Amino acid sequence: MEEVASWEPQISKLSVGEILQWSSRTFGHDLVFATSLGLEDQLVAQVIADLRLNIDIVTLDTGRLYEETQTLIDQTQNQLGLKIRVITPEHESLEKHLSEWGPLGFRQSVTARRACCAVRKVMPLRRALAGKRAWITGLRRDMSPWRSDVRVVAHDHSFDGIKIAPLWDWTRPMVESWVADRGTPVHPLHAQGYLSIGCAPCTRPVAEGDDERSGRWWWERHEQSECGLHWHEGRVLANPLVR
Ligand code: SF4
Repeated sequence: MEEVASWEPQISKLSVGEILQWSSRTFGHDLVFATSLGLEDQLVAQVIADLRLNIDIVTLDTGRLYEETQTLIDQTQNQLGLKIRVITPEHESLEKHLSEWGPLGFRQSVTARRACCAVRKVMPLRRALAGKRAWITGLRRDMSPWRSDVRVVAHDHSFDGIKIAPLWDWTRPMVESWVADRGTPVHPLHAQGYLSIGCAPCTRPVAEGDDERSGRWWWERHEQSECGLHWHEGRVLANPLVR
């Protein structure tokens, strides 16, 4: 914990490429980049490819993804020359969840929704991060008020490791401009107003000027709109599914 705090002042001054190089040097094979194929993750993937960094890249196929997301996995691998490991839910846990809640049970309550996210996202990510020391995410502070305290490097209580967010202080226009200039492959649904894209039944486009994550789990109160992959210090205890 003290070590992480001592890193932050220096790391926060580095560029995205320098942060990824430092991460790769510091954690070696104990480092994972978890991508959702979102705009920020595509930028990070592009930098990893440009710098030829040997970083383990994983994505979660929840079983409810858009076909466009799956197409983008292939396109990213081919265009950027990267290998993306696809992690799926563990079938026994998924069958148990489905028999208890049904295929659309996540609309019944926040508890049911978080149970679905736990089986399809949190537990698979835990498997992907098992034995690793650190993981990289595309989180930005201005994605939502809930993410306003994202730090460039921090201890992640949910997964008991270190979480690195090289885009922590970027804005969405900065990311959009960067990927457009670089010709990075991006999700085609962004152009249709889907600013934050997750599972198909839980994502919809947002109106101009609305919070970019407001299209996720729109039927819930907004402050509840996290899936459990990014619970913050002090908030993790509020989620019994993430321990
Ligand atoms: S986003 Fe929706 S479908 Fe996907 S895991 Fe969470 S509740 Fe289930």
